[in-house]
Amino acid sequence: MLPFGHPRTNGMPEGHTVHRRARDHTKWFRDQSVRLSSPQGRFDDEARALDGESFREAFAIGKHLIYRFDRDHIHIHLGLFGKFRAQKIPAGDPRGAVRLRVVGRDRAVDLIGPIKCERFTDVDLVLLRARLGPDPLDPRSDVALFVDALRRRRSPIGVALLDQSVVAGLGNVYRAELLHRAQMNPFTPANQLTTRQAESMFADMRDLLAIGVKYDRIITVDRSEVDRPFSRLRRGERLNVYGRARCRRCDSPVRREDLQGRNLHWCVSCQGGSR
Ligand SMILES: [Zn+2]
Repeated sequence: MLPFGHPRTNGMPEGHTVHRRARDHTKWFRDQSVRLSSPQGRFDDEARALDGESFREAFAIGKHLIYRFDRDHIHIHLGLFGKFRAQKIPAGDPRGAVRLRVVGRDRAVDLIGPIKCERFTDVDLVLLRARLGPDPLDPRSDVALFVDALRRRRSPIGVALLDQSVVAGLGNVYRAELLHRAQMNPFTPANQLTTRQAESMFADMRDLLAIGVKYDRIITVDRSEVDRPFSRLRRGERLNVYGRARCRRCDSPVRREDLQGRNLHWCVSCQGGSR
């Protein structure tokens, strides 16, 4: 069994997970005639319709994964609990509610528990791109769109960062860690950030997400702060505030608060008091 899905220690999949899966699945299936099935049955008609087609590539836009075939696409969103399980061929029997199984020459991938798994046309893809903000992992993404989106919002920066139309791909963990690295209070109105602050936050997203793709987990500490390579960091050594009792930098207790239904973690002493 290969390593699979999202890093359980970090909770739900964020953009780095989806980009990493896109990279892996492209490597494993590119230009192969893949077998598609839906062992659970909920994607049966669609899987049959595309079964045997040539898999051209997988790519990610924020937290959305797209498989491109000659005639059509499949759009996948993992949501809170979705995951992939990869195996070498021959694949064992499906375990759990497998929505989609993709079988190539050497690998098989099972998709379990996604919030979305659907056929997608070119038009659907255009519409998806139109409603998402810039993806920091896309080298062509435009930081000016992020700066503009913040300027138009009075909501707290902690809310804006999770809005996929502001920036595509962030989740709860990156939100907390980016704000902590910027030493910014999460309740700062988004339109109060200076252009320089917004640009530097976007640059930090690019760096952190790229590390996330490379190591397949969220790591937000600086290399200078740890005495081992990133690949050998243990759980509890990779983050500064999220999920911690105490801030990794200053050892103050980490504050937790519900912000629009999502758990926000921040350090009062590094980032300032409450609202
Ligand atoms: Zn602190």
